[in-house]
Amino acid sequence: MHELGVVFYVIRDVKAVAEANHVSRITRVTLEIGEVSGVVHELLEDCWKWAIKKEPLMDEAQLEIETIPAVTFCEDCKQEYETVRYAKICPYCGSENTFLVRGDEFLIKEIEVEDPSEDPLEEPEEEP
Ligand SMILES: [Zn+2]
Repeated sequence: MHELGVVFYVIRDVKAVAEANHVSRITRVTLEIGEVSGVVHELLEDCWKWAIKKEPLMDEAQLEIETIPAVTFCEDCKQEYETVRYAKICPYCGSENTFLVRGDEFLIKEIEVEDPSEDPLEEPEEEP
């Protein structure tokens, strides 16, 4: 997967959510990324830091990444196993008749915003 493209996709999505909810400032974005999605976390973070500088809405937003472990299911013996460890061959029966159950996800799990309960007409209070 192309990390910069992924980052632009996330930014576009976050902006749409922010707009729909009248949010003026994003402070943190949490992503859930499958273990075998092909996204390199370090690259993603580098692209993120670069790309958000152009987005006043979220130019200091933190990026959090949570990994979803990859699991493969065997059609022949109906067992699940770790994809990263055994790939396409079932460790229980040796079958190749398997498919990925999860692990290639790419989801925006959470978007944190500056406290929207504050009166929007006032300057935000300083953090203690
Ligand atoms: Zn099997």
